[in-house]
Amino acid sequence: MKRIAILGSTGSIGVNALHVVSEMPGEFEVAGLAAHSNSKLLAQQARKHHAKLVSAFEPEAAVRLKADLNGHAKHLPSGVEGLVEMASHPSVDVVLTSLVGGIGFAPLLAAIRAGKTVALANKEPMVMAGQQFMKEAAKFGARIIPVDSEPSAIFQCVQGHLPNQAAGDLSKLIRRVLLTASGGAFYKREGSLDDVTVEEALNHPTWKMGKKITLDCATLMNKGFEAIEIMNLFSLKREQVEILIHPQSIMHSGVEFSDGSVLAQMSPPDMKLPIQYAMTYPARTKRVIEPLDLVKAGSLTFLKPDFHRFPCLALANEAATVGGGMPAVLNAADEVAVSAFIAGRIKFTDIPKIIEATMKKHNGNADLPGFDEVLEIDAWAKAAAEEAAGKL
Ligand code: MG
Repeated sequence: MKRIAILGSTGSIGVNALHVVSEMPGEFEVAGLAAHSNSKLLAQQARKHHAKLVSAFEPEAAVRLKADLNGHAKHLPSGVEGLVEMASHPSVDVVLTSLVGGIGFAPLLAAIRAGKTVALANKEPMVMAGQQFMKEAAKFGARIIPVDSEPSAIFQCVQGHLPNQAAGDLSKLIRRVLLTASGGAFYKREGSLDDVTVEEALNHPTWKMGKKITLDCATLMNKGFEAIEIMNLFSLKREQVEILIHPQSIMHSGVEFSDGSVLAQMSPPDMKLPIQYAMTYPARTKRVIEPLDLVKAGSLTFLKPDFHRFPCLALANEAATVGGGMPAVLNAADEVAVSAFIAGRIKFTDIPKIIEATMKKHNGNADLPGFDEVLEIDAWAKAAAEEAAGKL
C-alpha cells in the first residue's frame, strides 16, 4: 500500500483524490490530511479514511478539529509548520500538494528534502522557483509527478523517455509542447472586460475548481503559470511551449518529438484521471472517470491565444523570458491582485495593471535566486502589489 498525505484535502483536488482512494480499496493508506479551515469536512475525511495525521491551517479550525475527532488521529501543529511536518513525515511515501498559492512553497521543499514522491498539483511554487526545486529534487532523490492536467498530459506522452520515473529534462527529445487552454470564463465574450463581476469570472466553462485557479483561468494567468511550470518541470525554453486555446478541454496537451511525431493525451475534463495517474504511477489501473465519447464531444478546435486582450499571458511570457526572480514577482503580484478583485476592491482589468506595475519595480537579473531569496522577493512583491492596488 502506498502511504499518501494530502495537503489541501478539502479543496477540489483533495476531494477528488480521496474519491480515487475510495475507488481503489487496498491500494492506498491515508497517512495524513491537511486543510485550511473546513474542519468539519476534514474531520469527516479523517474518520472515513482513518487518517493517521491531521492538521488544520487556521488555529481556530485546529481547535474544532481536535474536539470533533476526539482522540482519533495525531494532530500536527496548525500553519505552515504542520504542513512541513506532514510533508516530511517518515510515515508518508507520496505527498499530494494541492494547496493554493505560495503557501505550498515550504511544504514542497520539505517533501523534496525528505526524498518523497511528490504528486504536484500546487503550481505556484514551481512558478516561483521551479528550476531550484528540480535541482533540489535531483539532489535528494525526490520524484516530482505532475497532477495538473496539462503537465500530466505531457508526462503521460513521454513515458519511456524519462529515466528517473519523474519529471525531468526533455529539451533534446521534444521540439515543443502543445499546451492547451480552455480559455476560461471570458474567451468567447465580446466587448470590454472592464465591468465583469466576480461571479461571472468564477463561472468556468469546463472545469470545476477553487476560486484562485478559476480566476487565474479567466485572466489566462493560469496558462502563463503552466507554461513556466512546464518549462521548469521539463527543462524547456519558453519558445518550446506553444499555447493553444482549445475550448472543449478534451486534449489536455501534447508533445511534438524531435522527429515531428505529435502525441497528445485525451480524456473528458475530469481531474480524477491525472490525480489517479500521479498516485498510481507508473501503473495504469482501473478507470474511475466516464469514458471518452469523441462523437459526443463533437469538433475539437484550436486557436491562437490573444495576448492583447489577455495581458496576463503576455506578462507571464515576459517573466519567463527575464527569468531569475521575475516569475516569483509575477506570482506574488497575481496573488494580491486576484484577492483584491475577489474582495471587490479592483476591476477585473486592473489585475494585469497591478502585476505589470509590480514587475516594472523589480530590479531583477537572470541569476537564479536561492530559496530564501525567493521568499524575500515574494514578500517584497506582495507589498509592492498592495501599494499598486491602493493607487488605482
Ligand atoms: Mg491546468
